[in-house]
Amino acid sequence: MSHAHGTRIQQHIGDPVSSAPPVGREKLEEIFQDIQADMRFDHELNGCLNCGICTATCPSAHYYDYSPREIVQLLWTENLEGIYDAMQEKIWACAQCYTCAARCPFGNSPGGLVMLMREVAIKHGMESARNVLRPFSRVMLKLISTGNQLSPDMISKDGFPDWGPNISKVDAPLATLRKAIPVPTLHTTKTAWEVNLKTSVELYTIWEETGVLDSLKTIDQNLYDVIGDIMDEKRDDWQDFLDDQEDEDDDD
Ligand code: SF4
Ligand code: SF4
Repeated sequence: MSHAHGTRIQQHIGDPVSSAPPVGREKLEEIFQDIQADMRFDHELNGCLNCGICTATCPSAHYYDYSPREIVQLLWTENLEGIYDAMQEKIWACAQCYTCAARCPFGNSPGGLVMLMREVAIKHGMESARNVLRPFSRVMLKLISTGNQLSPDMISKDGFPDWGPNISKVDAPLATLRKAIPVPTLHTTKTAWEVNLKTSVELYTIWEETGVLDSLKTIDQNLYDVIGDIMDEKRDDWQDFLDDQEDEDDDD
């Protein structure tokens, strides 16, 4: 989802790269160019008054060392070093609720800009992206390989030790508790929904064509390999099914 255009990185104004940046100037420029080359960038950054309304309404800003105003200012002033620094930790604090986008008098979407920065962090294989996404490897495996999501009954204390002490809360009698909540979908806990073989195979093409698998390869080679094997198997199954259909048609 990107379009190429020349960089407009400023050489002197608003570009306080220190004499010893965390990575070379060339890499900092490459990262910023990747962010601004996305077609969403110009829709989501129109200017900034530095008024702080976004930060005042941001739930994440209340709990973390994080400010959407700061993120927008870094991008608006093209502070390459600051952008890189924010991508090491701060951008992962955003809850993607888009309250900021609804309130900004300039029509900016700080949450949308954070999303772009996250995608670029993944593209560049940043350690921060690996660390944030590591606990979700099982979810990604299930979602990408089956097109289905984690269902409540799959969440167990033994299955998710990396979720920390809070996982022990699933020891509660959830089935009984769910029955007390009058929302029928919450009672479907063994599977999320049925995804047939044809749809799964089509989804693999989408994951490939949209670059999702390339991103995954950058941040988790092992998971990429496992998913690749599953995709090959399912594609073979689908081809066998088509061959069987053809044989049946020939018999008729
Ligand atoms: S992004 Fe919008 S709300 Fe936030 S400081 Fe800038 S102008 Fe104000
Ligand atoms: S989308 Fe992110 S930056 Fe915007 S209000 Fe929500 S948590 Fe804050």
